[in-house]
Amino acid sequence: MRYLTADFVLPISSDPIEEGVVVFNDQEAIEKIGTREEFPSADLEIHKGVLLPGLINTHCHLELSHMKGLCPTGTKLIPFISTVVKQREFEQEIIQEHIDLQDQAMWDVGIQAVGDISNKADTASCKKTSPISYYTFVELFDMMQPTMTESTITSYRQVFAEQARGRGNEKSFVPHAPYSVTPALFEFINKANPENAILSIHNTETAPENELFRTGKGGFVEFYKSMGMSLDHFESPGTNSIDYVLKNLTPKSKNIFVHNTLTSPKDIVAAHTWSDQVYWASCPNANLYIENNLPDYKLFIDNKAKMTLGTDSLMSNWQLSIWEEIKTIKRYQSYVPLSVLIEWATINGAVALGYEEVMGSFVVGKRPGVVLVDCDWDGDNTDISQTQSKRLL
Ligand SMILES: [Zn+2]
Repeated sequence: MRYLTADFVLPISSDPIEEGVVVFNDQEAIEKIGTREEFPSADLEIHKGVLLPGLINTHCHLELSHMKGLCPTGTKLIPFISTVVKQREFEQEIIQEHIDLQDQAMWDVGIQAVGDISNKADTASCKKTSPISYYTFVELFDMMQPTMTESTITSYRQVFAEQARGRGNEKSFVPHAPYSVTPALFEFINKANPENAILSIHNTETAPENELFRTGKGGFVEFYKSMGMSLDHFESPGTNSIDYVLKNLTPKSKNIFVHNTLTSPKDIVAAHTWSDQVYWASCPNANLYIENNLPDYKLFIDNKAKMTLGTDSLMSNWQLSIWEEIKTIKRYQSYVPLSVLIEWATINGAVALGYEEVMGSFVVGKRPGVVLVDCDWDGDNTDISQTQSKRLL
């Protein structure tokens, strides 16, 4: 048994407890939640700060961990993607080493589960032994080229087969982004996933994305041309990019829209009308890294959107830490209450990835992990600018 206590405990499912104690058994499941006077003082492990359940990262690309620092900041998305495409040649040993290092780094800063995008099977062996639970989103794209759809499906069936499942790991087929997936590839994804599959898609991350669907012109036409591909066959629907997704993707149990930097209130309402199990993952540090922009969180809060947080890859971030994402939102849109951001990072993420029965809050029977944040807790007025998160259990 371990009796973990700090100045405050944030169970998430109930109000903060001053000098709260969370008791864990040897299987790391919660036996009891209380306050210090209920337990022998010699048993208590006393910490300064607040205790939170393990944090949930709903959007990562662990397989890109070796690409840290290779892309300059502030280039906007299309030059960024071009760099990703060009820089994929690395020795397997280097790739593997960085995957293992970042898996450990995420664990150390308190990340309990990850929604992880995979275009290859490089992360499979790490995920099979990691203490982190991974929902692997095997991500397909055919560059909007009908001639590439069949070969894409064949190669990604193989990636899917090799990816981890079991021991808390899950997997599904997902579309990359509206501008890179044909209707036929959406059709494959709809049919290949079981009813309870959780899906995810990059959404409205850059201005040329809506431009392509509204007018059939802009940066993505040029991008594909530079890769020797034509979009002459593409008929723009004259709508926003998300409307193309909602038309072609069957809502499964849950869908996570990722980034949403330029998402409008109309887009949010359209998605909520499409399905009542829509989740929105924000990756603020990656948005600042690539586009030097952030979503307008007020639009999402006003529309009662179910928000979660992600780190994106180390290619577009300085570290893989959900607490650092919270600090960034607090720095630039400090009107979002800290208690709300902590819910996004814990229970909302756990529900989005289907892990809410074991993680996301301190509730008897769950095995949510424990994170210590070194702050002086003062509710939503807490200054977290100089704080850090670290795993205790
Ligand atoms: Zn991403």
